[in-house]
Amino acid sequence: MNTQRLHIAIQKNGRLAERSLELIEAAGYRLNRGASDLAYSVDNAPIDIWRVRDDDIPTFVANGVADLGIVGRNVLAERSAGADGEGLREVMQLGFGRCRLCIAAPVGFEYAGPASLNGARIATTYANLLSRFLKQEGVAAEIVPMRGAVEVAPRLKLADLICDLVSTGATLEANGLKPVATILESEAVLVRSARGLGPELERLADSLISRFRGVVASQGAKYVMMNAPRSALPRIAAILPGAGAPTVMSLAGRDDEVAVHAVCQESVFWETLEALKATGASSILVLSIEKMM
Ligand code: ATP
Ligand code: ZN
Repeated sequence: MNTQRLHIAIQKNGRLAERSLELIEAAGYRLNRGASDLAYSVDNAPIDIWRVRDDDIPTFVANGVADLGIVGRNVLAERSAGADGEGLREVMQLGFGRCRLCIAAPVGFEYAGPASLNGARIATTYANLLSRFLKQEGVAAEIVPMRGAVEVAPRLKLADLICDLVSTGATLEANGLKPVATILESEAVLVRSARGLGPELERLADSLISRFRGVVASQGAKYVMMNAPRSALPRIAAILPGAGAPTVMSLAGRDDEVAVHAVCQESVFWETLEALKATGASSILVLSIEKMM
């Protein structure tokens, strides 16, 4: 029997494209990038990468053409807020592509809650999510569906406000707009179909998912080591950000001092080190973590 191959759909060009490839490589899969424009193959595992428009990724995965996909939660949510939203499951957040779906208004617009949107025309490419939000808030506003370049709609008098993705806010500002309400927090997610893949592909998918979890968890995580007075241990445990129970080891010839090692899941700032030092800790080292499982 031929080995079955696992297919992963990712964005071909755009904001998620490069980070998706980096994640796959960081998980230890060697990409054969030259193979073809549409598909890259993995050399050291039976995996193929389809490179497509991000909007098509949910369809690829829902139809079983791809087994997994990397796509913005916003794209998934827009689909599931619509009529054909079944059959997909978000497996995990991937820690990149962060943005918010916002309602934005011209700078002079006075916004005092959703009721201010009554009677307004709002341009968006996210008609399903916007419509759901307006319904939830009991607002009667007109949705002006667009395919792109939504931020120019108010200047062209096509709409009064817009509903669009925002990360830094620079695009809004350049168009004289400001965010007034957030409808959805988004980032890139791994998605799979809700149906089973069969034992062979399921095993491959499980292994990929656990490697992805390791890569995402190790980003930002730090290994912290220090010597400290035994009596300071409770205070140190409280200071270390996102650490489980730290490892405590005795130091040769010292009863009052111990070595403390801990994996911190969150960023370790200078302030944290200063707080540790104030408990009497010394020789504090913060190391990057390459892999974690
Ligand atoms: P495609 O050609 O694949 O259809 P696109 O133009 O629809 O690409 P991009 O602009 O590359 O898509 O955005 C891809 C995803 O990146 C978005 O769906 C969203 O999840 C995420 N993203 C992060 N920040 C932003 C932002 N400021 N504006 C738009 N998308 C963002
Ligand atoms: Zn798109």
